[in-house]
Amino acid sequence: MSGLVLDGKKINQEILQELRPRIQALQAAKRPPALAVVLVGDDPASAIYVRNKIRTCHELGIRSLDFTPSASITTNDLQQLIKDFNDDSEVDGILVQTPLPKHIDTDQILLSVDPAKDADGFHPFNAGCLVANRPAPRPCTPAGIIEMLKRYNIPIAGKRAVVVGRSEIVGKPMALMLLHENATVTICHSKTHDLAAECRRAQILIAAIGKPTQITADYLSPETVVIDVGMNRLTDEAEVQRLFAHDPDRLASFRRNRTTLVGDVDPLAMREMSSAYTPVPGGVGPLTIAMLMANTVRLAEQHIFQ
Ligand code: NDP
Repeated sequence: MSGLVLDGKKINQEILQELRPRIQALQAAKRPPALAVVLVGDDPASAIYVRNKIRTCHELGIRSLDFTPSASITTNDLQQLIKDFNDDSEVDGILVQTPLPKHIDTDQILLSVDPAKDADGFHPFNAGCLVANRPAPRPCTPAGIIEMLKRYNIPIAGKRAVVVGRSEIVGKPMALMLLHENATVTICHSKTHDLAAECRRAQILIAAIGKPTQITADYLSPETVVIDVGMNRLTDEAEVQRLFAHDPDRLASFRRNRTTLVGDVDPLAMREMSSAYTPVPGGVGPLTIAMLMANTVRLAEQHIFQ
């Protein structure tokens, strides 16, 4: 029996619909919300993410200010650019797309964003607010996952949640948000002993590793709700044939593009061995964008109405 598909695109549309009247109210009171988007260099994956974010801003009537400095920009110059946005009363949110080029000090850059304009929720002040469970912008991917679980009426309180991955942007904030929702949380990482056994005990499993199809059937149990955060490019034709033999559209798209997107969980295993799961693509990705828009609108409401 196949698990229930948790449809990220549907939840994305619900969240965006709910934001529209709030954006209209801001527009009527003063001006539309404004998000400054900084994309350094020409990393193709980052360019696609940024393009999707900007397109969603435009669809909603959020003003986006797009800056694309070359990869050779210095940490100092990038900090100055961010300072200008911090000082600009017409800007509500600032997003610096990561990863940044290696010569740039990412910690310094994230620190230079005004916490009151931190649309991604990555500033250490806001990370501290998350630890203390105080209101602040939350990192978009884990916030979107909580939103999805709630909108599908999947209980979190009292459940055993296992988060695989401990990054600052997904794994760690995810674990804290599940904890605040009263789950019993285990955090796993590359040094975890017997990861499969840890995962099998999960009632809610969040995979945020960045390794294609690492989580296989022996990591899952039929009751598990599986949230697959991973976004990995697969180019091995035989592997794509094996994973998507049931999906002619996917195979056709692979033949055209010679690449397809897979998560951290084996999609065949996830379909068969879970009570519910997020597909890749169309699961967690759309939630991340929706929550970025929600953060931007909330920051604008704070700037304009308070
Ligand atoms: P990072 O590389 O920052 O972190 C990966 C984490 O996974 C680390 O904590 C690492 O452990 C752990 N890990 C790596 N290999 C293993 C393993 N074999 N077993 C157990 N744990 C392992 O990645 P991110 O958190 O930034 O992203 C994770 C994935 O999610 C990526 O595929 C990324 O593209 C995707 N992503 C998707 C988003 C979306 O909107 N859908 C948004 C953000 C990310 P250790 O700490 O020990 O090294």
